[in-house]
Amino acid sequence: NLSREALEPYWMPFTANRAFKANPRLMIAAKGMYYTTAEGRQVLDAMAGLWCVNAGHGQQRITDAIREQAGHLDYVSSFQMGHPIAFKAAERIAGLTPAGMDHVFFVNSGSEAVDTALKIARAYHRMRGEGHRTRLIGRAKGYHGMGFGGLSVAGIGRHRRDFGPLLPDVAHLPHTYSREHQAFSRGQPDWGAHLADELEAIAQINDPSTIAAVIVEPVTGSGGVLPPPKGYLERLRAICDKYGILLIFDEVITGYGRLGTPFGSAALGVTPDIITCAKGMTNGAVPMGGVIASDKVYDAFMAGPEGAVELMHGYTYSGHPLACAAAIASIDVYEEQDIFANCARASARWEDQAHSLQGEPHVVDVRNIGLLAAIEIAPKPGEPGGRALAAGNICFEAGVLVRTAGDALVLSPPLIITDGEIDRIFETIRGAVRALA
Ligand code: PMP
Repeated sequence: NLSREALEPYWMPFTANRAFKANPRLMIAAKGMYYTTAEGRQVLDAMAGLWCVNAGHGQQRITDAIREQAGHLDYVSSFQMGHPIAFKAAERIAGLTPAGMDHVFFVNSGSEAVDTALKIARAYHRMRGEGHRTRLIGRAKGYHGMGFGGLSVAGIGRHRRDFGPLLPDVAHLPHTYSREHQAFSRGQPDWGAHLADELEAIAQINDPSTIAAVIVEPVTGSGGVLPPPKGYLERLRAICDKYGILLIFDEVITGYGRLGTPFGSAALGVTPDIITCAKGMTNGAVPMGGVIASDKVYDAFMAGPEGAVELMHGYTYSGHPLACAAAIASIDVYEEQDIFANCARASARWEDQAHSLQGEPHVVDVRNIGLLAAIEIAPKPGEPGGRALAAGNICFEAGVLVRTAGDALVLSPPLIITDGEIDRIFETIRGAVRALA
C-alpha cells in the first residue's frame, strides 16, 4: 500500500498526463553489464534488463542489423506475403531447438507467445478430431505473461486478482517449493516424480481425454526462481504421453542460454511438444516472441483429413522485419562470443557465491540454476516483501540492480558476466542483508 507520492515517481507504463519527476532509477544509457542513471551513476545490471539482455546491453552487431533493416524494408505483413529474412530467422532459431522442433510461429512478446501456444494446443486436438480436449493445466506460482490465456494458467494470485473472470476449465498443479525443504536447489532433491503425480490426480478427477495441454516454466521464474526437483519434468512428460496431452514449456526466461544451453529443455533433459520464447530472442533490443512447435504439432495442421489447414491466428507485427533482423544478429552474437558456454562456465562460481549467503542475517533460502538465483529473505511479520525491497534498495545504492519477487531477491545477470562481477553482486547482497533491521 504505497502513497500516491511514493508510487508516481517510478516510471510505469501508465504514463500519460503525469508530470516527469526525477527518481534515482531513471536510466539514460546502457552498455555491457552496466546501466547509466540520469544522475550519471553506473549500475551493475544483475537482472539483464528484465531477464532479457542475455548478451549484455548495446551489442553493436544487433543495433547495426536493426538500423540497416529499417533502412531498406520497414514493414511487410506475414500474411499472404512475407520477406526472406523471416525464413532465415526461423531457420537460425530451429538450429538452437531440440531435434524435431523446427517450426517457428512469430509473435511480439512472451505473453503473445503463451496465448498463441495455448490456442495452437487446442487447435491441434481439433485438427485430430478431438475438439473436446480443451482443458488447460498450469501451475501454482507460474508466470505466463499478462494476456487472459497466460493469466488463466498462471499461479500468482495478485496478478490475477483484479481481472477475472479468467478462462474456465483450467486446473493448477501445485508448485515445487516448500519451506520445509529449504536450500534445496544445490543438488536438486528427488521428490519430483512424486510432485508431478499430481497431474495424474488432476487427470483422474477431470477425465484425461478432456485435457489439451499442460504448461509450465521449466524453472519457475517470476514466482521466485524455483528449479524443478529431480524427476519432475520427466514424470510430467510421461503422464502427458500416456494421455495424449501436449506439454508446453514456457521458456521465455530459460530460452537463449540462461541455463547454459540454447534452450532449458536441453539442460534439463526433457523435450516438450511446444516451446514459447521471447526476451533473449532479440537480446532485448526490439520486441519479439516465438512459439516453437514439434513436427507432430505442425503436421496436424499440414496433413489433416482435408489436407492443410491454416491456423487462423497471428498479429500485424508477427515476423516484423526489424525483429527478424535482430533475432538473426542476436544468434550471431550468442554464437560468435560463445555466450551460452560462458553461462555454463560461470554458473559454478555463481552457485558457490550464492550459497555463501546461507547463514547471513535474514537469509532463509538460496536457490540457483544456470545464471539464475533467488535469495529468500525472512519477511518482517505483517510486512510481506518489505525486507526484500529494503535489501534491494541498499543494493541499488551500492550500485547493483536486483529485483524482488515477494520475499526473494531475484538475480538473472547478462550471460557475459565475469567472475569479478559475480563476486561483486553477492558481496553487495551480503552487505545489504547485514544492514537490514
Ligand atoms: N512467460 C514467462 C515465463 C515470463 O517470464 C514472461 C515475462 N517475464 C512472460 C511469459 C511474458 O513475457 P512478456 O512480458 O514479453 O509478454
